[in-house]
Amino acid sequence: QTNSPRDRILRERAAYVIPGGMWGHQRAAALPSGYPQYFSSGKGARVTDVDGREYIDFMCAWGPVILGHLHPTVEAAVAQQSAQGVCLNGPTEHAVTLAERLVAMVTHADWALFQKNGSDAMTTCVTVARAETGRRKVLVAHGAYHGAVPWCSPSLVGVTSEDRAHLLHFTFNDTASLAQAVEAAGEDLAAIVVSAFRHDLGVPQEMPSAAFAKAARAACDYAGAALIVDDVRAGFRLNLAGSWQTHGVAADLSAFSKAIANGHALAAVTGNDRFREAASRVFVTGSFWYSGAQMAAAIATLDELSRIDGPAVMQRAGQRLRDGLDAQAAHYGFELRQSGPPAMPLVQFNGDDATATLGDAFCTEALRRGVYLHHRHNMFLGTAHTDAEIDSALDATEGAFAALAKTRPLPSGEAA
Ligand code: PMP
Repeated sequence: QTNSPRDRILRERAAYVIPGGMWGHQRAAALPSGYPQYFSSGKGARVTDVDGREYIDFMCAWGPVILGHLHPTVEAAVAQQSAQGVCLNGPTEHAVTLAERLVAMVTHADWALFQKNGSDAMTTCVTVARAETGRRKVLVAHGAYHGAVPWCSPSLVGVTSEDRAHLLHFTFNDTASLAQAVEAAGEDLAAIVVSAFRHDLGVPQEMPSAAFAKAARAACDYAGAALIVDDVRAGFRLNLAGSWQTHGVAADLSAFSKAIANGHALAAVTGNDRFREAASRVFVTGSFWYSGAQMAAAIATLDELSRIDGPAVMQRAGQRLRDGLDAQAAHYGFELRQSGPPAMPLVQFNGDDATATLGDAFCTEALRRGVYLHHRHNMFLGTAHTDAEIDSALDATEGAFAALAKTRPLPSGEAA
């Protein structure tokens, strides 16, 4: 792409010094054509790539940004702590204050521990569950993502079968398959791990049914196992009290990360009193797990989300986007399948093929018009998505649908 010269040069340089050109889920090679790999800045609901093109951002750094890029209150809290020391010989007082905030905010929480990434937090949950129960088996849903470490990585490259020896699977929202997995684990059941909702890559999202949520809780109670809710992706976007609290179900252990500090690297595990003693015994740590600035950012982020009722703001913005896209799609002869909560939408085209050719083409057209979407992973709304930003995005997607309609015969045979 000649209109992305800086991005192209960086990719060429990276090819020599970064294996595969880029690692992990943010690698642009896996995105629709024309997507930039490198960015230079973000402000509010917008990001700018290294070639100076600005986009209305519906990925929010894949979740971490919830109050908009560079939220002033959060950045002030970070600057204040950073000016006093970045990494010290122990945590700052923010650690205690943040733990107090989480205990007050998250219904099931009697305590909190901090890490850096969601994978750290999920691994800590599993370690604490095994320590408390003295058991080994952990149940996870087929296709669910819980992190990039051997016990749960979606890829088996470089992973041994021993790493996964005590993992059993069930189907999300299928109580019979859950019961089967519980039975297979028998007396060795340490934990059932569930996502806040089903947000697996490339398939329609599903909220947990009330029956499934209650069955998971009941199975853990009966077996004396831990119910672990992986709230890394959804935490603080849907319900500040914890995502499964919406369904009247309290977790024993929850993992949070992504949005907790509006883009600053932090994760948290919360737990109830039953798991407190085990949580004090397990050896979980990291060089950067104590640094204060990110915890200061988290306190500012959670305070702001409570003050403005962030989840309600994002739900409203997401619904405005959803309704707008549905109306445009219908006008141009397409039918969308929009799933999941409006604050974390997945937008798919009915009748699309397995590689999401249509979704892919739509995203490319939207990107050309200044809107950054994703066609296979859920997107993320933030509180910086004002009505005006949503409406600007919808102006662009209108053009994207029109362009798509020109290259694809309409199901009805009519001209758009
Ligand atoms: N659990 C869920 C549900 C996630 O979405 C993610 C990250 N996408 C993780 C765990 C792992 O978090 P991290 O990438 O911060 O290690």
